[in-house]
Amino acid sequence: MSNTEDALPLYGKGQKQQQENRDRTEKHQQEEKQLRERMAQIRHKILVLSGKGGVGKSTIAVNIAVGLGMEGKKVGLLDVDFHGPSIPTLLRLGNQTLRTDGKNAFPLDYVYGIKVVSLGLLLPDQDEAVIWRGPLKMGVIRQFLADIQWGDLDYLIIDFPPGTGDEPLSVAQMLPESDGAVIVTTPQEVSLADVRKSISFCRQVKVPVLGVVENMSGLNCPHCGKLIELFKTGGGESMAKKLKVPFLGRIPLEPAVVEASDSGLPFIYHYNQTGAAQAFREGIIKTILALDDR
Ligand code: ADP
Repeated sequence: MSNTEDALPLYGKGQKQQQENRDRTEKHQQEEKQLRERMAQIRHKILVLSGKGGVGKSTIAVNIAVGLGMEGKKVGLLDVDFHGPSIPTLLRLGNQTLRTDGKNAFPLDYVYGIKVVSLGLLLPDQDEAVIWRGPLKMGVIRQFLADIQWGDLDYLIIDFPPGTGDEPLSVAQMLPESDGAVIVTTPQEVSLADVRKSISFCRQVKVPVLGVVENMSGLNCPHCGKLIELFKTGGGESMAKKLKVPFLGRIPLEPAVVEASDSGLPFIYHYNQTGAAQAFREGIIKTILALDDR
């Protein structure tokens, strides 16, 4: 008798748990369906990846978005780098938040009609580190992605979390059919080893590699304009060749880029005569624009 009494609440608990699991799966499926429908309105989705932080991934993502906007494209910029969502700072978005109507979240409008969404806009304090636990974090991100009403876009540029671990993998699996990835590296050997991992990451999630960018490649002297090779440059290019992926160009270390980032001014527009901006237009923007001609 006492066995049955003991068993009853447990049985009840098990059923409740099963129902909760069913509800959760249904919610996931609805979110995935909504996400697929919304993403279908976007012609090209580009991931910006790096094997580790601090190589200029977000800077590159911002300038790709602005560079495409300057070419008259309809562009969205999505920052899912939950470890350091820096797009609000790089674009000087201040303390703006996303407008919602209960069902949809609407991106912020930036210059050239660029629509911007950053996980950083969800945080009450942008200096706060995101400390959600893994599964909870992924649930929040899935719902967040599904809620965004982008409308019709030519391009969505997605600033990914750095690395090739479980978290970027889960985010990549949430996003349907991307056109390709831009992999950002610096010339030091350790970063190049990271790029190899990023390339195999792309293969794993079946996203084509659009190409590798070697950022901080040499220093453009602010006095004479001559390129000073601080680290051994060209590693990104030779490695891209070896791994049979396109090389999109070298962006020099440029004091103007630091200044631009710190003051929230994309260098491709505000410092458009610099070597960095020129290399950017020639290598990266041209390659991405060519996707539209396919
Ligand atoms: P990540 O997204 O990879 O962590 P960020 O884009 O936040 O990197 O860039 C890290 C820092 O490096 C920023 O202060 C940025 O201004 C600086 N930076 C990026 N690219 C360059 C460059 N080509 N020249 C000078 N500074 C750069």
